[in-house]
Amino acid sequence: MKTVIVWFRNDLRLHDHPALVTATQDADVVIPVFIFNNTLLKDGHSSDNRNRFLLESLTDLKKSLSELGSDLVIRAGSASTELRKLALEVSAEDIYYSADYTPYAIKRDKTVKQALANDDINFRGFPGRLAVSNLNALHTKAGTTHKVFTPFFRNWLEVQRRPVAVLPSKLPAIPDALDVGSIPALETITAKINLSPNVLPGGERAARERLHDFLENDIDDYKQANNVMAVAGTSRLSSYLHFGCISPREIETMLPETDGARAWHRQLAWREFYNYIIFKFPTNADLEFQERYRGLTWDDDPKLLQAWKDGQTGYPIVDASMRQLRAEAWMHNRARLIVGSFLTKDLLLDWRHGEAYFMHLLIDGDEANNNGNWQWIASVGVDPAPVFRRLYNPSLQQKNYDPDGVYVRQFVPELKLVPGEYLAEPWTMPEDVQKTANCIIGTDYPAPVVDHKTARLVALDKYRKVTAPA
Ligand SMILES: Cc1cc2nc3c(=O)[nH]c(=O)nc-3n(C[C@H](O)[C@H](O)[C@H](O)COP(=O)(O)OP(=O)(O)OC[C@H]3O[C@@H](n4cnc5c(N)ncnc54)[C@H](O)[C@@H]3O)c2cc1C
Repeated sequence: MKTVIVWFRNDLRLHDHPALVTATQDADVVIPVFIFNNTLLKDGHSSDNRNRFLLESLTDLKKSLSELGSDLVIRAGSASTELRKLALEVSAEDIYYSADYTPYAIKRDKTVKQALANDDINFRGFPGRLAVSNLNALHTKAGTTHKVFTPFFRNWLEVQRRPVAVLPSKLPAIPDALDVGSIPALETITAKINLSPNVLPGGERAARERLHDFLENDIDDYKQANNVMAVAGTSRLSSYLHFGCISPREIETMLPETDGARAWHRQLAWREFYNYIIFKFPTNADLEFQERYRGLTWDDDPKLLQAWKDGQTGYPIVDASMRQLRAEAWMHNRARLIVGSFLTKDLLLDWRHGEAYFMHLLIDGDEANNNGNWQWIASVGVDPAPVFRRLYNPSLQQKNYDPDGVYVRQFVPELKLVPGEYLAEPWTMPEDVQKTANCIIGTDYPAPVVDHKTARLVALDKYRKVTAPA
């Protein structure tokens, strides 16, 4: 009788799960397990919002496994110790898992593999995290590593895909004698005060509902709607993709042949691009990809950083975006770009502050995507472009992407009565208008913490200086 353990990590689903499906084909007994550890729950990258979503996703997964006759075993501690202990207890010959490409995951999996080697327990990775099965199949025509998105995207579209994995309608039961353990209560792993109030629920069921809703109602208009900040025109699947509650490969097979769907598919490719980049260049986790920018000096101004975090910069579109992040543990992509440009090129603060703060709050906070995008908007990463192209004027961004002020007024109620003509630059309101709008600048709403035009010149000069020959 053969026993295989399936170690769930950020693949919390039953649909299209190659590791689980192969386990059911290879073994008589299949033991699904999830392991809580301190890195996940408490280290610098952890997040109470993500922990809540994780618990919801695990509860949903446990329910789905139980409906098929199995269960989810829960353990707490170091992955290598707990997996080894469990494997010896149930006499498992193999442990299957969905491969992950971040530096953290690769290091952890290496440690686990080493810990299992002496006991002759096989540790085998499967695809499932990305639409493509093998990142090493992607390269430029010259055979080198991609560093630019568009050629990567063309290459990615052409790479052969695996079929969607279909789970049997019944799973083998967990041995009676095995202690299944239990999913911890929310209050034991989160501080309530840090939880954002308006969030999506975790879990595969919620993910599939959201996907179906998006495919039915919004995907065809994605090209027009995805940059309108007040409109719910994007899928909001990012958190589900991060936790693997839904499979990008399966989603691909469900897309219609429309311009909207093609534009959306391209966004999915960005996710795969940044996974590829962090896999190929793991030092990006700490350092600028472009070596010449490792010499940039950043200002150190805790007050400005706090104003940015609190949505108190005096620039309405920046403040609305930062307040959306706190309220929803999610932020519109355009908003992320605007606040990223503002932090690095208006406030002249290190992109790593932004990366860390996003990781702290975002449910979709993801080492590959977050790092890749922060490096992109700070102009220090792959897919390079001249610095001025990613240096946004916040007032113009607001006029372009929130022309009626619906998004700003939703998240910055102090500006509710400010007339549209002043909404992007409320500090230009004459005093009598400030009074009738119940919004005295400097009292009810901050004056701008920096002058964009001046900051822009300083930023351009700063980037130019580190690249200019001495
Ligand atoms: C500074 C910054 C930090 C970011 N940090 C993260 C992060 O930690 N986690 C994360 O998932 N996304 C991150 N993004 C990318 C993007 O903003 C979100 O994926 C997107 O807003 C999620 O909303 P959605 O699911 O409705 O997206 P949709 O527009 O519906 O896109 C579909 C999917 O494509 C992927 N995607 C879309 N845009 C990008 C992109 N630029 N890079 C990578 N994948 C993309 C996501 O998985 C997304 O769910 C960041 C962007 C910026 C500018």
